Amino acid sequence: VVEIRDLRKSFGDNEVLSGIDLDVHRGEVVCVIGPSGSGKSTLLRCVNLLEQPTAGTVRVVDHEVTDPDCDIDRVRRKVGMVFQQFNLFPHLSVLRNCTIAQDKVLGRKGAEADRVARMHLERVGLEDKVDAFPAQLSGGQQQRVAIARALSMDPELMLFDEPTSALDPELVGDVLTVMRRLADDGMTMLVVTHEMAFAREAADRVVFMDAGAIVEEGAPEQVIGAPREARTREFLRRVL
Ligand code: ATP
Ligand code: MG
Repeated sequence: VVEIRDLRKSFGDNEVLSGIDLDVHRGEVVCVIGPSGSGKSTLLRCVNLLEQPTAGTVRVVDHEVTDPDCDIDRVRRKVGMVFQQFNLFPHLSVLRNCTIAQDKVLGRKGAEADRVARMHLERVGLEDKVDAFPAQLSGGQQQRVAIARALSMDPELMLFDEPTSALDPELVGDVLTVMRRLADDGMTMLVVTHEMAFAREAADRVVFMDAGAIVEEGAPEQVIGAPREARTREFLRRVL
């Protein structure tokens, strides 16, 4: 679903990604871990071209997004994104937050869009909040709406960038539970996270990044449980 080859990204003369190779296969959950500033968010943002790569190729659901002729909007339609900030529309109900893009982007209207939205809101445990407004919800609930909104677009790939790091600790669990269930249901997911327990349990593969490069990747038991590289060990010593 994702195929990244020798991806480079510089901001001015600051090279933030220095040659990343990464694949995410269908149904796979890949967690990216690493210190602040290592380029994790930039990597994720290059997948749907929120950042323009400096060099390299990125293929996403059979489109080479780094090809100047690529219709990036068609690709973005198939890629759900969930960020630290939930970015819900404050003036729209939970249900409408989950139908507006279906309507505007997919042309899926009325009862059918409502049905899809309700199905995903139920999946994230918020079927009783369809008529609420974002401000009436906790951060954890808002983030789950953001997940349901992304799922309502029938994505082939979900990108998560530290979806729980803006939440109060007691709200983190519900969001991770939803993500774990999504992973179990076979969704393809690329997840930047500092939740090592989640990465351990939910990831098929863990990628440790430092200073714009992949230092180590492999099964969670290996990368988190028995890291080979000194830099990985040092990072884990600080976060675990
Ligand atoms: P964190 O864990 O803190 O979220 P990160 O691994 O996601 O960190 P990035 O946000 O990808 O790191 O940033 C990597 C580097 O790129 C940082 O040094 C940052 O200052 C720089 N950077 C990111 N975005 C921009 C930008 N739009 N303009 C200039 N520099 C940027
Ligand atoms: Mg980041």
